Parts: sequence; structure tokens; C-alpha cells
Amino acid sequence: MLSGAFLMPAFSVVTFGCQMNAHDSSRMEEVLLGAGYDKAEGPESADVVVLNTCSVREKAEQKLRSEVGRLGLLKRKRPELLIGVAGCVAQQEGERLLKSLPQIDLIIGPDNIKELPSLLHDLESGGLPRVRTVFDVDEPSFLMAEPSRASSATSAYVTVMKGCNERCSYCIVPYTRGPERYRPAREILEEIRRFVDAGVREITLLGQTVNSYRDPEGRLPVAPHYGESRLKWPRGSVPREDETEFPALLYAIAEAAPELWRLRYTSPHPRHLTPSLIHAHEQIGMLAKHVHMPVQSGSNAMLKRMIRRYTREEYLERTRALTEAVPGLTLSTDMIVGFPGETDEDFEESISLVQEAGFVALFGFKYSQRPYTPALKLKDDVSEEEKSRRLTRLFEVVDAQKAAHLAGLVGREVAVLVDGTGKTGEASGRTEQNEIVHIEAPVGELPVSGSLVSVKIERAYKNSLRGSWLRTLAASPLPRDKIQSAIVTPRGESEKRSDAGRRSLPVV
Ligand code: SF4
Repeated sequence: MLSGAFLMPAFSVVTFGCQMNAHDSSRMEEVLLGAGYDKAEGPESADVVVLNTCSVREKAEQKLRSEVGRLGLLKRKRPELLIGVAGCVAQQEGERLLKSLPQIDLIIGPDNIKELPSLLHDLESGGLPRVRTVFDVDEPSFLMAEPSRASSATSAYVTVMKGCNERCSYCIVPYTRGPERYRPAREILEEIRRFVDAGVREITLLGQTVNSYRDPEGRLPVAPHYGESRLKWPRGSVPREDETEFPALLYAIAEAAPELWRLRYTSPHPRHLTPSLIHAHEQIGMLAKHVHMPVQSGSNAMLKRMIRRYTREEYLERTRALTEAVPGLTLSTDMIVGFPGETDEDFEESISLVQEAGFVALFGFKYSQRPYTPALKLKDDVSEEEKSRRLTRLFEVVDAQKAAHLAGLVGREVAVLVDGTGKTGEASGRTEQNEIVHIEAPVGELPVSGSLVSVKIERAYKNSLRGSWLRTLAASPLPRDKIQSAIVTPRGESEKRSDAGRRSLPVV
């Protein structure tokens, strides 16, 4: 059964996992729309369902298996339904997945997205189930986003690199995403211009280790303070290999797209938090005052076993230099508890690092063994019960810090990028530090999606804030007919920028 007025096949892409996966899903949708497919309302009404998977955590993989089982029931009623599996589990398991889950018709890796329509066409013509998971190591390619096709939004993700060379001992990503490959700065700037011209005002740069970026075409000018020794800092100098061209890319973006209100990036590696990147944060006003900097553990013994290539002291020194350089900048992080060999003392080191760094948010995970990772050789010797206890304690500590941070914003005036309308009809958005704000406004003054507004914070909740609208700082650049339906997928934020040396926000 084919749906749609002209019997065009309809697709549905279901996403599990990180922003990188969400971004890949958008590219899949664009590729399929470009090939003439229609977008179905959901898997139930689709002719093609693509499950875009994540294998970083065990749960996501289990979720895939149960989702395939559910779709298998649908396929019994509609045998022509095609089920595709994309993303990290597809790359990792390939043929094995096809054998263990016979309901699947296509396994496609992250580097093969542009081949999706032709592979589906083969299947629709009676072809046999296929596995296509080839890395584009020799000729890396990055699909250019087509913002005019996407629903109107004020925030967008832009991929700057893919793969990872770090090989942290617990992580499967280098296996599922391959070695680091960088996108030419020329292409990145072109994609950002396209988004800005379509009304986007917040860009998040994406990459597995986003700040390891280097321009493969070598066209970026050297960033200020590149290669500067940190001899003035207590821990000594930055190793030469820690320097990258990521700060240079940030300056180039600021120059090429001055209309941007906010520029973010995820996820950086702490060892590339160099003086030149810290200087870029001082100088580039559009860089948001929030950085998510994964640390994983506060114990040097664990960091060594994890092969993170920095010490607790180096992490704290670098993040302290960043927060001192940019007043008001907040930090969040990722942390693993119960890594093999983690003692009570090691865990207490993690707790004290959370306190010293002052994180206002944290993604915490219990260690679980992943296939093909070096840590498989280590005995998973912390009990599930103990892992749960440590995770609960970790969240208690960070929740208290978050509560104090949010309470400290009450009474302050902050800039909020509006990204939608709440259930009660009020507007909501995010501050520069990424806090969610529910906005109350007089009837007729309710700010629309895409606008940047000044809000006085009246109340702090557990995970969000409430405030009243004061004035509009910048009108929504979205076309009028798109404003009400705009769906924003941001990590927005803001507070009025007034610090000397940083360019201020546009005001209308
Ligand atoms: S930096 Fe480490 S944790 Fe992050 S993707 Fe690379 S190997 Fe995985």
C-alpha cells in the first residue's frame, strides 16, 4: 500500500540517541523528500520506516530491538512495509543485525545516507535485504542542509566534523563513526549562511570532538593566541597537538554571519580547551555563555583507565580559565559512575570535581560494557546497586548546585530566544546559559517564536524559570506565516550581554 495523493511512498524516520543522530535524521528526511518521497505522520502510516539508532548506551540498543519487533507486527499486516536501520547500531552490527532481526530490509551506515533513495528503490523493485555501511574515509562528504525544505526554525545544527580519534576505553564511537574527518570551512560557512538567510538565528556546531576541528583546505587564518604557551598558568604549557583550528572557525563564522544571535558547539574535548579557544570566547559576542565540557570522572586513576588524556587538575585549570575569562559562563558535563576499578575514594573525587567546577547540569551514566571497546578487558567490578547509589548521589549534588544557580537568577533581567508556546498558551524559550524560561506577557504582547526578548525572572522551578516580558530586543526573522508553526530544536539561552569587549546583541 502506498500513501499520498499520487501514490508516492511515505517515510517516517525515528531517532534514538544524540544530536548527531537527530541531525543525521534531518539529512535523511531531506534526501528522501528530494527523491520524491512524502513524509508520513508516523511509522503506522509509512511505507518506509527508518530507525536511526544509537549504540553508546545499552538501553538505546534494546529500544531498537523492541521497536523492530513492534514494526514486525505491522509488517505482517502490510508485507510491503520496508524497515531500515541506520546510525551507530547499523554500522556496528551490519550483517549480524540483518540475521538476528529478519524483519529488517536495509542496514545503512551514517556515511551512506545519500544512497538511501537508490537503496530503497532497489528494495521496492524486489531486491534482497541489503547492508551498506562503508566509511567515506578517502573522500569524506557532508550533506549540505537545505533549510528551505525544513520547517521554519530559529535554531539549527551544522556538522563541522565526524568520527573520533580519541579512543576513550569505554566508547564505541570510534568504531561506529570511524576516524576524524573534517568538513571544509568554506562549506560550513555556506551552510550557515543558508540557515541565516532562512531566518535561523542560533547555530550549534556539531562534531564528536567538535573542537578538534581543522580545515582540510587550510584556508582559515590563524586565530589570535594560537599556540600560546600556558607557562603563566600553574600546570605548564599546552601540548602542541592540543591546538586546533576550531577557534579560527569560530571567528570566521562570526564574520560571515553577523546576524547570528547565538553560536554554540557540542561536544568538545577538554584537551582542546586551549588559550586560543578561551580568547575566542572572550572576543566573540555571539558565543553562548554556556559550554558542555564532558569530564567523565574526577579521579586521575579513572581518567587514566578511561584514556581521557587529561588530569583532573588540567580539566579544572582549563575550565576555570574559561569561566574567569567570560563572567557568567556556566558549565555542564557528562560523568560515568562505576567504571571498572572505581573505588569509593575515586567516586568522592568525582563529587568534589563537580563541586569545584560548579556544574549547573550533568548527564550521568552508569558504566556498562560496550562491544569492541578496550574497557572490555577490565573487570566490570562495581555492582549495579552501588552504581545506582553513586548515580543518585551525583544527581543530588548537581541538583543542589542547579537549584542555587536558578534561584540566583530571580530578579535578574535576561534575554530569551523564544522557541514556542507552552501548554497554557504562554511563550517559552531559552536563556544564553540554556535555562528554559516560561514567559508571561500582557494579552497582545505575547512574544512569537524566533524573537529575542528581555524577561525579568520572577520564579525558579526545579528545571526552569518563570518571568515577565519586558521588551523585544530583536523581532523574529521568520516569515510571518511560519511563526506560529515554527518548531525550534535549540539549546538556546541568554542574558543581556553588556561585558566590555564582547559584541552586544542586536536591538530593534
Ligand atoms: S572523545 Fe572519547 S567519548 Fe567522545 S566520542 Fe571520542 S572516544 Fe567517544
